[in-house]
Amino acid sequence: MSSVVQAPPRIAATQVVIENLTKQYGVLRALGGVSFGVNTGEWVALMGPSGSGKTTLINILGGLDTLTSGRVVVDGVDLSKLRENEIVRYRAEKVGFVFQQFHLVPYLTAVENVMLAQYFHSITDEKQAAEALKRVGLGDRLTHLPAQLSGGEQQRVAIARALINQPKLILADEPTGNLDEANETIVLQIFRELHNAGHTILMVTHDPDIARQADRRIELAHGHLHFDTAQHGPGHPLACPLADTADCCTAVSTDDEIRFDHLLEQIWIFGEEGKPAQAASLHATGPAGKLPVVSDEPAARVLSRMSDLRLVELQNGEVQLTPVGSQRARGVVRRHRLAERLFKDTFSIDDTEAHTQACKFEHIISPELDQRICTFLGHPKTCPHGNPIPPGDCCDGKSKA
Ligand code: ADP
Ligand code: MG
Repeated sequence: MSSVVQAPPRIAATQVVIENLTKQYGVLRALGGVSFGVNTGEWVALMGPSGSGKTTLINILGGLDTLTSGRVVVDGVDLSKLRENEIVRYRAEKVGFVFQQFHLVPYLTAVENVMLAQYFHSITDEKQAAEALKRVGLGDRLTHLPAQLSGGEQQRVAIARALINQPKLILADEPTGNLDEANETIVLQIFRELHNAGHTILMVTHDPDIARQADRRIELAHGHLHFDTAQHGPGHPLACPLADTADCCTAVSTDDEIRFDHLLEQIWIFGEEGKPAQAASLHATGPAGKLPVVSDEPAARVLSRMSDLRLVELQNGEVQLTPVGSQRARGVVRRHRLAERLFKDTFSIDDTEAHTQACKFEHIISPELDQRICTFLGHPKTCPHGNPIPPGDCCDGKSKA
């Protein structure tokens, strides 16, 4: 027998499978064939204009509404095959709901409202319900009625109720839609903790700042999947400019991503030097055509696509980064300079070769690897040429010269 210890096989655990899902309300088609999967532990932000089918989708996933055709499987349970009593059990055991309206029973206290969810699970345990309320910071509000609680506190009761049965899937429909900023912060913090604890979360939100905290954003439009960061990549701007065109939901080609990164890097460097970036002096494929995988193309044409994607703004031959473009440029520059440091310091590779390798690496390094390299190198402040490395989330107060 081999003495080699084998790593356990990696199973891509898809917890939610949605295939060609349609929902018809009479003549109105609320969902017109939506397909995507959600992995265990993933936090997905579901976005899209009013009427695009977000609530319908969430309600079907939660067994509150039935589907017209297609397939929805949650945690191995095929929802279209469930009988009425099985749906009730599915709702009680597998999912936790948090709505924009808190839906608390007005004549029950906070702890009784939580116990109501236990009741549907056929066990009531007041101590456990009180514990759940303590976890959302409401230990001193157990016997308050909903009317005696603020909106944020009511939403926290609703979250405690949603979690009491340890659901595998948390469905939240605009959970912060009715909250002021302070309570929104508290409620989001609870969702972050749930995410860190491994819960799968599908959350409808209109707020791009909230959506950015999720692992992935999915946008619906007119009952169709319009945009998914898992397909487009996180660098893709949130409001897809290709909306309603045949190209919508076609991933930007890898070649283009490399050209974009390359141009963004040059524009960023002009900014560092305090100079305006002239379109005419930028190169889409490197000063000496040094990106072998990418075919040559005039920078002006690539810049025009980048402008369509709102990465840059072009004016009188001058190129400026948009906030999205600037954030992405910063990431590319950071990865490039970290890679140069790694090659130079750790592998003693000479400057030119380190630069060439870094040009390739900057497209490959994931955010996790970026942080690991940075931590390994002791959060360096500069690249081997003395240029600043933009700090990352891992660097807080740890950077060394
Ligand atoms: P969203 O949550 O994205 O705002 P919804 O899922 O609530 O959108 O609605 C999608 C479409 O389905 C809308 O046109 C809405 O009017 C319609 N709709 C939703 N629920 C019903 C229903 N119970 N009966 C008829 N039409 C509905
Ligand atoms: Mg809705």
